[in-house]
Amino acid sequence: MLTIKNLFAGIEDKAILKGINLQVNPGEIHAIMGPNGSGKSSLASVLAGKEDYQVTDGEVLFEGKDLLELSPDERAKEGLFLAFQYPVEIPGVSNMQFLKTAVNEIRSYRNQPALTAGEFLSLIKQKQKLVELDDQFLRRSLNTGFSGGEKKKNEIFQLAMFEPKLSILDETDSGLDIDALRIIANGVNRLKNNNNSFVLITHYQRLLDYIVPDFVHVLYDGKIILTGTKDLALELEEKGYDWVKEMAHAKE
Ligand code: ADP
Ligand code: MG
Ligand code: MG
Repeated sequence: MLTIKNLFAGIEDKAILKGINLQVNPGEIHAIMGPNGSGKSSLASVLAGKEDYQVTDGEVLFEGKDLLELSPDERAKEGLFLAFQYPVEIPGVSNMQFLKTAVNEIRSYRNQPALTAGEFLSLIKQKQKLVELDDQFLRRSLNTGFSGGEKKKNEIFQLAMFEPKLSILDETDSGLDIDALRIIANGVNRLKNNNNSFVLITHYQRLLDYIVPDFVHVLYDGKIILTGTKDLALELEEKGYDWVKEMAHAKE
């Protein structure tokens, strides 16, 4: 699904990612944890194709295609979902209108016919149940005045609608409340199957109380310095990151 080989990237003269290697196969859930400032969000940004970042070395393959050659829009249409690909607030454009356009653009890219109004409505109904979203929410302007929790809920709803192959969710350090975490977790647990994959970026272990990852990676100073299973997340929760940092420094 996704292969990251020796990825180096930065902003202006500052090196941020310093040799990332990661392999994500269909059906897998990977968690990326790490202290603040280690490069977790930067990794997500590079995969999304954010302009501020320059890739200086390495490669990223998405289903065998060179991801870095694709525009952010093409990445999305190829089946990569990044929560913050659509963070814009669009007053006057409802969630529904936005989703209909986006879903049909994705379908067109995949040579599938556009959904009729009726088909779109039944898709909405079906996915709405998955994320426990009410009708009121769909009529609101895209992202305007959404709370942190509502934005997350909307992300998961978009994810359900777009049916991506690979979803990368950055929990961010903004302190999501327990409801938001539960929404993300339930959504991921209901949407995961043997053909799709998730990369969950999280500073704290708490999201992983609800989602069991197949692999947990620790990112520190732009590198993955340790990989384990869900037990590693618990160990990090208990002992913090210092012992992993020391291990990384000892190796240097
Ligand atoms: P994390 O998500 O793990 O907390 P980030 O990816 O946000 O880490 O940040 C990694 C490093 O990149 C930090 O040193 C941060 O200061 C730096 N960084 C992030 N965004 C920018 C930016 N726009 N300009 C310059 N440096 C940045
Ligand atoms: Mg941070
Ligand atoms: Mg971050």
